Amino acid sequence: MNAPLHLVIVGGVAAGASAAARARRLSESAVITLIERGPDVSFANCGLPYFIGGEIKSRDALAVQTPATLKSLLAVDVRTSTEVTAIDRAAKRVTLRHLASATTESLPYDKLILAPGAVPLRPSLPGIDDPRVFTLRSLQDMDRIKAAATTAQRIAVIGAGFIGLELAEQFTHLGKQVTLVELTPQLLPPLDHPMTKLLEDELRKRHVELILGDSVGAFEPGPALTCRLASSRTVVADLVVLSIGVRPDSALALAAGLDLGPRGHIRVNAFMQTSDADIYAAGDAIETEDLVTGDPVAVPLGGPANRQGRLAADHIFRPASARPYPGALGTAIVRAFDVAAGLTGWTEKRLRAAGRDFRTVTVNDNHHAGYFPGAKPLLLKLLWAPDTGRLLGAQCTGLAGVDKRLDVLATAITGGLTIDDLAQLELAYAPPFGAAKDIVNLAGFTASNARDGLVTPVDALPDDPAVQILDVRPPPLVASHPLPRAGALNIPLGALRGRLGELDRTRPVITVCALGKTAYFAARILAQNGFQVSALTGGIRAHFDPRSPAKLPTP
Ligand SMILES: Cc1cc2nc3c(=O)[nH]c(=O)nc-3n(C[C@H](O)[C@H](O)[C@H](O)COP(=O)(O)OP(=O)(O)OC[C@H]3O[C@@H](n4cnc5c(N)ncnc54)[C@H](O)[C@@H]3O)c2cc1C
Repeated sequence: MNAPLHLVIVGGVAAGASAAARARRLSESAVITLIERGPDVSFANCGLPYFIGGEIKSRDALAVQTPATLKSLLAVDVRTSTEVTAIDRAAKRVTLRHLASATTESLPYDKLILAPGAVPLRPSLPGIDDPRVFTLRSLQDMDRIKAAATTAQRIAVIGAGFIGLELAEQFTHLGKQVTLVELTPQLLPPLDHPMTKLLEDELRKRHVELILGDSVGAFEPGPALTCRLASSRTVVADLVVLSIGVRPDSALALAAGLDLGPRGHIRVNAFMQTSDADIYAAGDAIETEDLVTGDPVAVPLGGPANRQGRLAADHIFRPASARPYPGALGTAIVRAFDVAAGLTGWTEKRLRAAGRDFRTVTVNDNHHAGYFPGAKPLLLKLLWAPDTGRLLGAQCTGLAGVDKRLDVLATAITGGLTIDDLAQLELAYAPPFGAAKDIVNLAGFTASNARDGLVTPVDALPDDPAVQILDVRPPPLVASHPLPRAGALNIPLGALRGRLGELDRTRPVITVCALGKTAYFAARILAQNGFQVSALTGGIRAHFDPRSPAKLPTP
């Protein structure tokens, strides 16, 4: 009989616990040891903000498994409050340090899985060590923040990414006065800016103070903490939470001489093997491939971490049948009060920064049939490769149905679908659930219309007096919501065919409407009458910036 395989897993939360569970299901004989530095294993980091705000009532609900349940369910030797401090690759042993006793121990392995995760960024700013400045990663961080929040009235959240937004929402639910400070000029920096406008409106409506395009330079102690911003503006807070990103916890891998990427992530192949074939890595600490382009990418998200941990175990115990990791898309979503926003795949800003060719359209529609009560507007932006029509990325925001569209589009990108495929996707439809032409179909129609030259979409209005801006909305709507652009001509769609003479055939025209659809219809009329015409994609709703109502963005 073969000797049992000794598997050691470093890190016992998302990737590590998934690896342990899969390993046991594939091998009853393996000796599996799970080492976790903290006191908990397999807890739901993603739920931490919601317990702070009281939306999740039971702390125990966050413990997906405890050390005891993992031990009994999986027969895994779970060592909490224990840190792996060194890997001896030649001897295939790890050194453990028991944190309570400060004693050490050496453990052999046949296969090792590193799932050490990431640590929150905490830049070395003056005053950062003030006990009122927190980061959120563990259940203990959560307990400390929740306790401090009971007496705090003014709370500053630094960083308006996914976790920062969740915290801003939850602190507001607790009745706190929340200020959200973000370095970039928008909320949710991974998204393209106009897509985050609805979120901004929503947070302002809920009395969250937004300070965008500014950053904290120092924390000055006093009865309250003064956050001094780069602009020299100050924010006074009783409690500060930094949510400005994470860095991979890869010191152990570095010391062991494993290959790391430029930002310190552990490099792995499609089966999660590091540069040492007996050592695997998974989760926030690794760099993997981008699903669309194959470029190296690090995606610190719960879904990838769980699947990568599972795959590492698959490859150890069933190497012949393990399926390679397809790459990461970075599909993510957040809820802030009534608004949801998210993305999958590439954004315009990333594509531009990488110098990649792309085309894009933005479409508006309702989340289900408009005539059915409760229809809520959705905004969807699609990006695709001009040569093949293959989908590159999508972003969606709205009050309902955002998750469903992102999931459909993530699946479509994973399947290598094109804009023409989207146009033909047969999606579930009855009035309470969707529309006969779902917004996903609509995005496919609009993109293929653009590709086929039926319309030239533009996503901004140029400051060029030679260009005629034609607003085709009904006059009452123009009067109540005037286009923030002087000199625009208003001819409603229904009257356009009879009033073509009011337009100068020698000058280009851009058609504009509220949501984008009517501008397209008008553009088709004009194009077939010999005009050089483009249409504002997504309509005014997608581009109008409530912070500066005097102007629309220009290219
Ligand atoms: C507040 C919050 C909200 C989030 N919300 C979402 C969400 O909504 N959706 C989403 O997709 N993702 C979300 N995430 C991200 C998600 O939780 C992570 O991507 C995921 O937990 C990563 O899993 P991991 O196993 O790589 O790392 P972790 O879950 O961080 O686990 C790593 C563990 O390894 C341990 N460890 C590290 N080094 C050692 C060592 N040398 N010895 C022993 N133990 C070690 C650490 O103590 C840690 O417990 C959220 C994260 C946070 C913090």
